[in-house]
Amino acid sequence: MKLNELTLKATIDGIQGGDFTASEMAKATLEEIEAKDGEIGAYLSFNKDAFIAGAQVADANKASGRLGKLGGVPIALKDVILRKGFPATAGSQILKEYKASYDATVSKKLDEQDALIVGKTNMDEFSMGSSTENSGFKLTRNPHDLERVPGGSSGGSAAAVAAHMAVAALGSDTGGSIRQPAAFCGIVGLKPTYGAVSRYGLIAMASSLDQIGPMTKTVEDAAILFGAIAGPDSKDATSNQRAIYGSELVNPNWEEVKSLTIGIPKEYFEGGMDGEVEKSLEETVEFFKKQGFKVKEVSLPNTKYALSVYYILMPAEASTNLARFDGMRYGTRAEIKDLEELYLENRGRGFGPEVKRRITLGTFVLSAGYYEAYYGKAQRVRSLVKEDFDKAFDEVDVLLAPTTPTVAFKFGEKSQSPLQMYLSDIFTIPANLAGIPAINIPVKGREGKLPVGFQLMGKPFREADILGLGRYYEQS
Ligand code: GLN
Repeated sequence: MKLNELTLKATIDGIQGGDFTASEMAKATLEEIEAKDGEIGAYLSFNKDAFIAGAQVADANKASGRLGKLGGVPIALKDVILRKGFPATAGSQILKEYKASYDATVSKKLDEQDALIVGKTNMDEFSMGSSTENSGFKLTRNPHDLERVPGGSSGGSAAAVAAHMAVAALGSDTGGSIRQPAAFCGIVGLKPTYGAVSRYGLIAMASSLDQIGPMTKTVEDAAILFGAIAGPDSKDATSNQRAIYGSELVNPNWEEVKSLTIGIPKEYFEGGMDGEVEKSLEETVEFFKKQGFKVKEVSLPNTKYALSVYYILMPAEASTNLARFDGMRYGTRAEIKDLEELYLENRGRGFGPEVKRRITLGTFVLSAGYYEAYYGKAQRVRSLVKEDFDKAFDEVDVLLAPTTPTVAFKFGEKSQSPLQMYLSDIFTIPANLAGIPAINIPVKGREGKLPVGFQLMGKPFREADILGLGRYYEQS
């Protein structure tokens, strides 16, 4: 086994235990990227010198007994997370020349713990999409089948981890962008509770839904990386004081895990899934029943409105957030004669079609006369979706559902129909609307076949429940 194929846990143990060095790990990762990324296209930018220098710092810290908790672990960042001095394009031509002037809180935390930031990964432009085909730069291929998409919008991060070009990665999830690509690429992806991880230095898509989270090879790795980036932050007013996690995050209390009641939301199983996905989900439910877990059917009746509500609230927030990209402060500026032309030229050229579609939609639903009919109403339905979860969590501790309706699809298969593409997120969006934590876990025993994932959703700030149950499944 090559070093870069190790898990995050094994990397930490190997470096801390002196079996190999951070520099050796960095070298193995670099070689893998040089051999494979031309074909896969997971990275948008990569700073070899900074990466090697980081590994040398980690090795020096190890020698002096000061190695941080993530010492020497190569981690990739979705190109929407700021890393000082590095490009941060958000997958958009409008930001192609922008370099971050400060660190996101998560980047700072990784640095402080001696992680090695490998590079910035490809993504759908401004996180809008489910296949990474909306990137303003290039395609990313699914390492399991190069003719297929890696999912999106954090497709580059998912592909980098699945192809061992990073030991772990960070993505962001507004409606499924961590979990859906994780499912397509056969890795673990956690969307934390809203407010658990600071959004400071994350290029915003829809601020009331966005969360940064880990994308890893195992559930245990996700627990470790989540623990390393979570916590309240005075620089993000929506970060939450409850985001303080104990040791059970990484060292589960197995007795408590075994006593969790699993809810099966019936609306998620009423059609919409492909045969292959449905069969895998049924087998997973059977697994937990056989292991003696209490499994109970629950109802989330307002789930059917989640997608519609999302496609009103998300564009409304995104159109507002994207107003700042006018070529004045960030990105390139066109040569023009007056202010109006400056806006039209920069935004007209800089944004791709999906981004324009959503800005138009968002501006419309927020316009005077329509605001109450669309935005106001969608806000109220969002509360109903959340209340469904609150009620379900009175009866059960976690919910088990599919992550995606299909396995990874082929390039071009859905890119002609926005609606078909939007439907990929039908099972992931409700957790964002409700602000609850949710994780994708690869279904086992699918070697040689395209990956399928299942999703566990938990109570707010109870990541320990879904991580614990996920690890139980992974280890059995
Ligand atoms: N695919 C969804 C969308 O296009 C979700 C994106 C995301 O989570 N960032 O909006």
